Amino acid sequence: MASCGTQENSNEIIIKKPRGRPRLSEEEKLARHDSYAQALKEYKRNYYHLKLKGDHECGLCGKILPDRVSFNKHQRESKKCEAEQLRRQIQKLNDQISYIIN
Ligand SMILES: [Zn+2]
Repeated sequence: MASCGTQENSNEIIIKKPRGRPRLSEEEKLARHDSYAQALKEYKRNYYHLKLKGDHECGLCGKILPDRVSFNKHQRESKKCEAEQLRRQIQKLNDQISYIIN
């Protein structure tokens, strides 16, 4: 019963049909993984150059950043921008108060 693929049954040999999808060898698995990794790397590089790269100017502090990712991080974490944003809010509220008083 341990013989794979064949089964001897009273003077005749029955060849079993292999079932399921064919399995890859280790070399084929590694080659497929390498080609997939290369394609993914190429796709990410092209995506960066097409969609993300380019100068972005911060509207609050005027700093020019080289791509979209650093621009988003700058607006999220920069203390200078946060202070500028708060200063603008205070200015806006002062204007509203002076409008109400006068
Ligand atoms: Zn800024």
